[in-house]
Amino acid sequence: MSATPLTLQSRPATDPSVDHAIQAIVSGASTDSTCSTDLAVGPWDFDTRPGYGPGSSMGDVIPTGAPRQGELPAAYREASDEELDARIRAAKATLGDRVVVLGHFYQREEVVRHADYVGDSFQLAGAATSRPEAEAIVFCGVHFMAETADLLSRPEQAVILPNLAAGCSMADMADIDQVEECWEQLADVLGDLETPDAAGLLPVIPVTYMNSSAAIKGFVGRHGGIVCTSSNARTVLEWAFERGRRVLFFPDQHLGRNTAKAMGVPLDRMPMWNPRKPLGGSSPEAIDDSRVILWHGFCSVHRRFTVDQIDKARAEHPGVRVIVHPECPMEVVDAADEAGSTDVIRKAIGAATEPTTFAVGTEINLVQRLAAQYPQHEIFCLDPVVCPCSTMYRIHPGYLAWVLESLVAGEVVNRITVPSSVAGPATVALERMLAAQPHGAVK
Ligand code: SF4
Repeated sequence: MSATPLTLQSRPATDPSVDHAIQAIVSGASTDSTCSTDLAVGPWDFDTRPGYGPGSSMGDVIPTGAPRQGELPAAYREASDEELDARIRAAKATLGDRVVVLGHFYQREEVVRHADYVGDSFQLAGAATSRPEAEAIVFCGVHFMAETADLLSRPEQAVILPNLAAGCSMADMADIDQVEECWEQLADVLGDLETPDAAGLLPVIPVTYMNSSAAIKGFVGRHGGIVCTSSNARTVLEWAFERGRRVLFFPDQHLGRNTAKAMGVPLDRMPMWNPRKPLGGSSPEAIDDSRVILWHGFCSVHRRFTVDQIDKARAEHPGVRVIVHPECPMEVVDAADEAGSTDVIRKAIGAATEPTTFAVGTEINLVQRLAAQYPQHEIFCLDPVVCPCSTMYRIHPGYLAWVLESLVAGEVVNRITVPSSVAGPATVALERMLAAQPHGAVK
């Protein structure tokens, strides 16, 4: 930890560690603020508690059936950062090509530095298939990503999630029972959902965001639907509108709304489906008239971004380029200069030839890494509070060291396996997605 007082917008661009920033705040070395001082302690302190842990999702309700992580052995809980770093490197060197480590853009720096591939969920889904010789795929992301890797990898390959408590609060907002119930209610209004009309169009095409369970992807596959990511959402919606009268889009209402709006779908033809209300809280007429039915889900990281933050950035940094993720609310996307997936954000910054100030509306680990990678630019997170994705943050280096050293010892821990009853249709939905080409920015 640096002894120099740090502020979020003046932190040396060479230090991409969000953990260092949080430790500095908690120790008083920085005057910045964090959404939870509990972020400074080991995530194992929260493994047995029924919640997502400290961070951006801590206010969300965790499903009762969400996986729980058993206690991490003391040798890993008590090891220093330097010791863990050395142990991870040694275990990886011993395992060689037997293991591939995947790291999501939102993962903490101390873990990402050990990844063989770093990317968004779409890119990592592809990376999971690129190393068929590896016995194990260690996925430093969240639960649905590990499930997707299991679906796309060879059956003999073990996909490992270093901390089972690394779920995704957005994905958990649509469970399979709720979606099945929704489908039945839609059939009550729209009639037989499996039979095309005279024009060859089905009443509803289900589209699920990559950020959903394998069970949901399986549902989509069984009902003629498709998976999308933030990179290809527009292409996928075009695919769906060629096959159906309307789309049921879940779990992220914001990605669905932002993408459909950019395609010209009027807001009054995008009713919300709240799974806790009869008919989702809509009327039969609204469902019948709809083009996109939006599930009442959201990302607690991207929901933190506001138009006020954008106004403040513009006032304090004349000429700033504001670029946000399409999981942000519509007003934020509308107020930004650009919106797009993490890959679009990275490419936009990488393509800037003149020194530029960027205010970025996405998870802070990625923003900090970009700031370190491009010191010629001023890059800062729109949210002034240091508040990482709490579920991604559950993958502390201690868990990575534990799963890798277990592999060295011949033991596979924390394997994620999708049941065969789900795997077939879920893979169909994913393969439809992989065939779709990324469209780029939504705005
Ligand atoms: S950033 Fe949001 S959508 Fe992504 S893993 Fe975290 S909670 Fe889920």
